Amino acid sequence: MPFRTITGHHNLLDLIARAATRGTLPPSLIFAGPEGVGKRTAAVALAQFMNCTGSDMRRMVPASELRWDAGGDDSCGVCGPCKRIARGVHADVLILEPGDTGVIRIDQVREAVGRAAYRPFEGRRRVVIVDDADTLNVEAQNALLKTLEEPPAASTFILVTSRPDMLLPTVRSRCQRLRFGRLAPADVAAVLMHGHQYAEKDAHAAASLSDGSIGRALDEGSDEFVTAREAAAGLLESVAASTDPRRRLEGAKALTGAARGGSDREELARRLHALSSILRDLGALLSRADERCLANADLRPLLERLQRSFDGERTLRAFSAVDRALSALDRNASPKIVADWLAFQI
Ligand SMILES: [Zn+2]
Repeated sequence: MPFRTITGHHNLLDLIARAATRGTLPPSLIFAGPEGVGKRTAAVALAQFMNCTGSDMRRMVPASELRWDAGGDDSCGVCGPCKRIARGVHADVLILEPGDTGVIRIDQVREAVGRAAYRPFEGRRRVVIVDDADTLNVEAQNALLKTLEEPPAASTFILVTSRPDMLLPTVRSRCQRLRFGRLAPADVAAVLMHGHQYAEKDAHAAASLSDGSIGRALDEGSDEFVTAREAAAGLLESVAASTDPRRRLEGAKALTGAARGGSDREELARRLHALSSILRDLGALLSRADERCLANADLRPLLERLQRSFDGERTLRAFSAVDRALSALDRNASPKIVADWLAFQI
């Protein structure tokens, strides 16, 4: 996909595209950053960028698919090379990834290194993408060393990893490391809606608990996120303006309500994470943070209602109580006791 249809990481992608246009992009790169934020997608986009034969992408890509535009060149996404790279069948773009054994075998590396020694068959540049590069064992990393140090002309190597520290220092020192950050909640929600057909409500609920990772949002069912957030919102509303102990106990009950999947413990943990996500937003609103930083921007009316009862001090106190509740749960405390305790702390 063209860089400009990728959600998030605009500055970094713009930098990569400009360097590739000028021919100043180092030939050995590490794309590092959290799991599930689009590092591999960006690596494939770079391979397309360097081999695209189409014309001006801004005329080729429908405006509805453009996520950003900083000017400058981009791939078209629709020419033969762009399409073959996206399907993983372009002769000059190799993607190495771990197989069933969970590691990238040394013979995969040797084959890629061997092929990279020849000039590209059909494109302008040969690109070798090593996904989950941290699964290369020491021997396989050593087999890559010489090539990373002096890549053959017209070849680019991209090591994609969420654990760059698992790579040998000798490998790291031969590559330019580019850091991908977490995505803003609004960006995760946008990807879930546009790329994975989530309904708006489900997308925002999943994004609010995804910690900026699309991978993480997709791992969990969106139903669970929605339920967790509703339970958390229910507790906050029932304790917001009332000191009545009965209401608090009812709120606690809502928090430990029937688990829809997994154990009561997992369900309560999910709801506690939802609680801290909402409380974090309340804190952000108090400090007048940008709307895009809010994980639960779609719950704006709720947040505004809660703001009337939650000042800075109460929000902070509640936030740290949720944190303590999560650690107690980790240490095997009973979910019911944890929820009852919490309902009287916030
Ligand atoms: Zn193209």
